[in-house]
Amino acid sequence: MSPTVEASPAPLWPLPCRLHARRRETRDTVTLELEAVGPGLGEFAPGQFNMLYVFGVGEVPISISGDPAHPGRLVHTVRMVGAVTRALGRLPRGGAVGVRGPFGTSWPLEEAAGSDVVVVAGGMGLAPLRPALYALLARRERFGRIVLLYGARTPGDLLYVTDLRRWRARMDLEVEVTVDAATDGWRGDVGVVTTLIPRARFEPASTVALVCGPEVMMRFVVRELQARGVPDGSIYLSMERNMHCGIGQCGHCQCGPFFVCRDGPVFPYRRIAPFFRLREL
Ligand SMILES: Cc1cc2nc3c(=O)[nH]c(=O)nc-3n(C[C@H](O)[C@H](O)[C@H](O)COP(=O)(O)OP(=O)(O)OC[C@H]3O[C@@H](n4cnc5c(N)ncnc54)[C@H](O)[C@@H]3O)c2cc1C
Repeated sequence: MSPTVEASPAPLWPLPCRLHARRRETRDTVTLELEAVGPGLGEFAPGQFNMLYVFGVGEVPISISGDPAHPGRLVHTVRMVGAVTRALGRLPRGGAVGVRGPFGTSWPLEEAAGSDVVVVAGGMGLAPLRPALYALLARRERFGRIVLLYGARTPGDLLYVTDLRRWRARMDLEVEVTVDAATDGWRGDVGVVTTLIPRARFEPASTVALVCGPEVMMRFVVRELQARGVPDGSIYLSMERNMHCGIGQCGHCQCGPFFVCRDGPVFPYRRIAPFFRLREL
């Protein structure tokens, strides 16, 4: 896989940051732009995550969803589901956040050079894939066809509508979006994201597939990609597990012989396949 940017030499020590800007994506999801209080934010590789710490509440893993070419402002997209993510969503401008990271493995963009690239995202899964799309498009000439297949529950759950509009306008990128349930005014596809795979234009034998979404969705996506003839060795998944330390010490995110925080979250499908259906072991 691509060389991964290492976390700081003091990986348990949060870097003090503050909220610079917040954008509401959907009813329950916000994108936060953080900046370091002093010097300190380094580079990250697409697919990596940070541990975000809200003082007095707790710490959670959140993927980095911004542009790797502009690492000085850290961008994270957060769905507000529980105590910590709601506290992140409520932070006032200038509010304090501790950041540890970047952690984990990244999407195999170097290996994908010369191949077609199919990006399949379900729901929040587009967040860790957005930096990969930025990086692919920044060096567009290095890749064959690039296809984004994105599924959300409803039109109101679509993330990054400005990016989607811009990407759809490009001739060198195929963007297909579908929703599980349409609402008034939706004129696009209706159905799960797997329904987009059979008609997407890519050369299966020389395609690298990057997949992120709920585990059940990834299982069906893998099946469809295999049916099109994409080799197992060219399919990469980002796994989500409950994690605490982020550095392979505490064991919370163990998945078979792997720690998802350290050996993942991005895994070659071939490596993770035997453990794919199992919850925390
Ligand atoms: C590597 C990695 C990357 C991640 N990247 C992101 C990201 O970019 N954006 C993001 O929003 N989340 C991301 N998550 C998930 C995020 O870490 C969890 O949603 C968060 O830990 C929940 O913490 P909490 O204290 O707010 O909620 P908790 O109190 O832990 O959970 C409250 C309730 O919400 C449910 N829940 C927890 N997580 C989710 C979820 N993702 N979707 C729906 N229900 C959930 C729980 O089952 C529980 O019932 C990532 C997780 C991992 C492991």
